[in-house]
Amino acid sequence: MGWFNVKVELEQTSVFEIELEADDYYEAQQIVQNGVWNDDYTKDIRTTLEIVDENYKAIEMCEDCNAEMDYCVCEEDKDE
Ligand SMILES: [Zn+2]
Repeated sequence: MGWFNVKVELEQTSVFEIELEADDYYEAQQIVQNGVWNDDYTKDIRTTLEIVDENYKAIEMCEDCNAEMDYCVCEEDKDE
């Protein structure tokens, strides 16, 4: 058994529609864009979220010095 650090990289997409009242299409887009960045649509985003790409990279770590195994300088007790 070893100790690992796994880096997760997810590419996600989310498609949903918002209906609202506005003066013109520019204002409508602006309001919704602000809403996205202000976390007003987190529920819509979460329920429509799809993972389109995923990447996992595991690195073995030394439990004693918490360094990557390749850079570990602990000489003793490497195996139990
Ligand atoms: Zn170490």
